[in-house]
Amino acid sequence: MNLKKLSIEYDRLYGEADKLFKKHNPCQFKGNKCVYKGAPRTNGCCGSCRHLTPKGCSVKCLGCKTFFCEGNYCKVSNGFLNRLHDLREEASQISTVMLGCYQSKKEFLLYYSLSILF
Ligand code: SF4
Ligand code: SF4
Repeated sequence: MNLKKLSIEYDRLYGEADKLFKKHNPCQFKGNKCVYKGAPRTNGCCGSCRHLTPKGCSVKCLGCKTFFCEGNYCKVSNGFLNRLHDLREEASQISTVMLGCYQSKKEFLLYYSLSILF
């Protein structure tokens, strides 16, 4: 797989995950707090990270986009969890790096993935 194809696949998976989270709203943000024990989370982001801006995440990190904390599994539908699992499976079959690295830019993940794949 070359860089262009990997980038297209990455964007597709990221877009699908984005749609899934928008449809199910599993984190149920109220203000800056998510449903998880009311822990403060900023602009839809789970971590404190240099890529976080006042408008939210400034990079397209697939690992972050497809992350959902296990503590809240009982609060979401099986449909959401199954689809999320499928997306993560699909991504990991292309490159485990794309999922394993959080707080990372898309560009870094693509080049890192390619350096391992070839
Ligand atoms: S994944 Fe969990 S901790 Fe992160 S924002 Fe969603 S509910 Fe909160
Ligand atoms: S890369 Fe991940 S941790 Fe960093 S701002 Fe984006 S979603 Fe949050």
